[in-house]
Amino acid sequence: MKFLKVNDFVNPNYFEQPTVVTEKNTNPQQLHPLVDQFSRTISYLRLSITDRCNLRCMYCMPKGAEDKAKHTKTGEILRHTELLSYEEMLKVVRIAVEMGMNKLRLTGGEPLVRKGLLDFIHKLSILKNLEEVRLTTNGVLLADYAEQLLAEGVRQINVSLDTLQPKKFSEITGRDYFGKVWQGLLKARDLGFRIKINVVAMKGVNDEEFIDFARLALNEPFQIRFIEFMPLGEKSSWDKEQFIRAEDIKNIISKTGQLTPFNNKRDEGPARMYELKAPNGQKGTVGFITPISHHFCDQCNRLRLTSEGKLRSCLLNDRETDLKALLRNGASEGMIRESIRQTILNKPKGHTLENDLEKGEKPTCLGQMSQIGG
Ligand code: SAM
Ligand code: SF4
Repeated sequence: MKFLKVNDFVNPNYFEQPTVVTEKNTNPQQLHPLVDQFSRTISYLRLSITDRCNLRCMYCMPKGAEDKAKHTKTGEILRHTELLSYEEMLKVVRIAVEMGMNKLRLTGGEPLVRKGLLDFIHKLSILKNLEEVRLTTNGVLLADYAEQLLAEGVRQINVSLDTLQPKKFSEITGRDYFGKVWQGLLKARDLGFRIKINVVAMKGVNDEEFIDFARLALNEPFQIRFIEFMPLGEKSSWDKEQFIRAEDIKNIISKTGQLTPFNNKRDEGPARMYELKAPNGQKGTVGFITPISHHFCDQCNRLRLTSEGKLRSCLLNDRETDLKALLRNGASEGMIRESIRQTILNKPKGHTLENDLEKGEKPTCLGQMSQIGG
């Protein structure tokens, strides 16, 4: 199988050459530009606003990433000029939306730490045909920005929170900000945001709190979604001993009440959703995101634009298209459109994490989550 290389896109003559396609895709011209060779329609763009963050989650940021200056030198945190500018991001999103993509999530790094985000969201919000802009945040700055986000039309926020214990929060994230996150959650709740809390499930770290999270789902209008811990990033702290399958989490949660599956609305993405009903009649919603035990590659509709301007068609595959090089070398909109199309065409069928794990290998993609955008 032959895949396009990044250099193909930087070569200005590339678009005069015949389209290079994988062997499966015999007649790409007949495909809708957003349909890949496995008949998936790619309609959802996740945009990493920055690789910087005000937390240092042990599974996400490079170890010891304390000193910003030092880390721009060692390449672990990008220099500002290496990040896509808002103008560049807006151009890519506009072209993607014109091609038919209609969902956008802003992530990172921590999107709320980049100056000018609200103005950027405002510009996105007036793009025709783009459904709601959604945000994934660690919640540290949520209380400060919630009202303005609402004013710019954001209605749904995913907040990442792996523990409800302030001390453990500091251990996981390297920062003593549990109170700020909690304050942000309550403020966003009071303003009427739809809120999903993402919990990365880690045996020996937060498994004793799964029940507390389930109770939170019963007591507050927060949807709690447990995410299987993935081995991501060259310096990932991932450890097989910490991995816990969604099925095991579900068994633990079921001690708090009855779990009844319901069909994923379009809205829920890859999460398997359940209604949780406690013996006293209280109800809540919990979900499980199972990239490893039940990977959802056959339904994956995503494309990611990393903070460095690389277009990535699979979170767990390091193959990328260098859109920044195109943008900064004067490529026409047609060329950008074509490279998006080719990236979609070459989206891999799926990943092999579970097999790798079974073979006893430590599977990892080299890309760092804070740059790719989770
Ligand atoms: N800073 C924001 C936040 O924490 O929500 C957005 C970026 S963060 C990379 C996006 C999501 O990826 C978070 O929910 C985080 O918990 C998740 N994540 C990061 N590394 C992960 C890993 N190795 N396995 C599973 N989820 C991970
Ligand atoms: Fe920052 Fe989010 Fe990564 Fe934690 S998971 S270090 S909050 S980008």
